[in-house]
Amino acid sequence: MTKPVPADTLSHLKAVLGEGGWSQDPDRLAPKLQEWRGRWTGQTPLLALPRSTAQVAAVVGVCAADGVAITPQGGNTGLVAGQIPRGEILLSTEKLTAVRDVDAFDDVMVLEAGVTLARAHEVALSVNRRFPLSLASEGSCTIGGLASTNAGGTAVLRYGVMRDQILGIEAVLPNGEVWNGLKRLRKDNTGYDLKHLLIGAEGTLGIITAASLKLYPRLVSRCVAIAAVATPHDAIALLARAKDETGGAVEAFELMSRLGVAFALKNIPGLREPLEAVHPWYVLVETASGEPGAAEAAMERLLAGALETGLIQDAAIAQTEAQAHAFWAVRENQSGGQKPEGAAWKHDISVPVSKVADFIDQATAAVERLSPGVRVVAFGHVGDGNVHYDVLRPDGGLDDAHDVLRDEGARIVHDIVAAMDGSISAEHGLGAMKSAEALRYKSAVEIEALRAVRSALDPRRIMNPRVLF
Ligand SMILES: Cc1cc2nc3c(=O)[nH]c(=O)nc-3n(C[C@H](O)[C@H](O)[C@H](O)COP(=O)(O)OP(=O)(O)OC[C@H]3O[C@@H](n4cnc5c(N)ncnc54)[C@H](O)[C@@H]3O)c2cc1C
Repeated sequence: MTKPVPADTLSHLKAVLGEGGWSQDPDRLAPKLQEWRGRWTGQTPLLALPRSTAQVAAVVGVCAADGVAITPQGGNTGLVAGQIPRGEILLSTEKLTAVRDVDAFDDVMVLEAGVTLARAHEVALSVNRRFPLSLASEGSCTIGGLASTNAGGTAVLRYGVMRDQILGIEAVLPNGEVWNGLKRLRKDNTGYDLKHLLIGAEGTLGIITAASLKLYPRLVSRCVAIAAVATPHDAIALLARAKDETGGAVEAFELMSRLGVAFALKNIPGLREPLEAVHPWYVLVETASGEPGAAEAAMERLLAGALETGLIQDAAIAQTEAQAHAFWAVRENQSGGQKPEGAAWKHDISVPVSKVADFIDQATAAVERLSPGVRVVAFGHVGDGNVHYDVLRPDGGLDDAHDVLRDEGARIVHDIVAAMDGSISAEHGLGAMKSAEALRYKSAVEIEALRAVRSALDPRRIMNPRVLF
């Protein structure tokens, strides 16, 4: 728990934020202190609600002078508790929602940090362009949060992660000064790139107040299908085939286990069985193209060939937008569908794509040895090597008994990942949950260099002090 904030600092912050710019009302604070999974509840002496970059700078300036810690928060959809304060000032970007520019000639939009991803999609469409990042939390997650966690999502296979979408950043640094790096250049080779330090920094190197983001052409044909495979090894073989045969049309390639699909169908109203028969594993494939009909043709070719050789056992291609939406709903509820099934150890890992199936085999054997009867729900963006590997308590088991083994389970899973040269956090970041664990897997040389960067920019460690190294 962070040390108490002096009363003088609180008065000073209220003065710089003005009426409506802060809150201490428990009802107003409550949703911002609870994270999505309900595992963490935070505390704060003050919710700061700045309306402009200048106000963010004023807040950080006061905190820097008084050595008071700040936790930044965007949409509060982060899954590693980096946005939940433990006594720090909570600075929300909810009022930083301006669209500063959108330009189809430069293919760029400049959005403030509190703009949601769903709104960013609308802004891009308003000039007949596309912003490709896609996450199930898009209605709430924000540009500042996406940049600070370097978010991934379902279209990484084709477009890359959030880092790949960012051309420029404006941020308030830990000393309260504003850095305007809102360039919109595709090429800029002028030494160290400060924006890349801030991306993925999880609020530890400053507060992102705006970003200039790449726009892409709209795709005119899109096709979504679900196919049944016998094992994750077959899923990876199908991916290799899809890459070979579709000329780069694969936009998403997502794996789901039967258990995850069954939990989603059981616990989320309105979902439907994707295929007639029940299968051990499923992949959701999306193809897209700038040419009319090309995505559909690529999908039909791929699935027909895979059926013929026995690589897949069945498949259904969405015939309408509503069907495509229904297929995606099964995938997007892999996490929500497990919630009522009891305690789970959650892992967000990545390994080289060629090792995804081996990882699932090895990890499942290992967690089963640790706690016989655990229920594994493995799913995710396997097209880019990212598996959400969730281990639920045995059916009829006790949550508390499962929780006791959480750290040991994580260690076993993460050691397998490390042996495969993978990452213990593919897309969610480290937050307060995984920062200590990550120290085990980074070299002393790297940690020393990272700490030197942080203390140079934030010598009093006021920015999200419980997060990272
Ligand atoms: C249903 C669901 C599905 C999800 N799917 C995915 C997925 O597919 N891929 C993926 O990558 N993530 C996913 N997430 C996780 C989450 O949506 C992302 O991490 C997202 O980027 C968080 O954005 P946010 O605005 O909610 O940030 P928050 O949760 O508010 O904050 C996240 C981190 O960023 C920091 N931060 C926030 N705003 C700023 C700012 N302006 N300046 C500096 N630091 C800041 C916070 O301090 C915290 O450390 C999912 C979450 C949910 C609930």
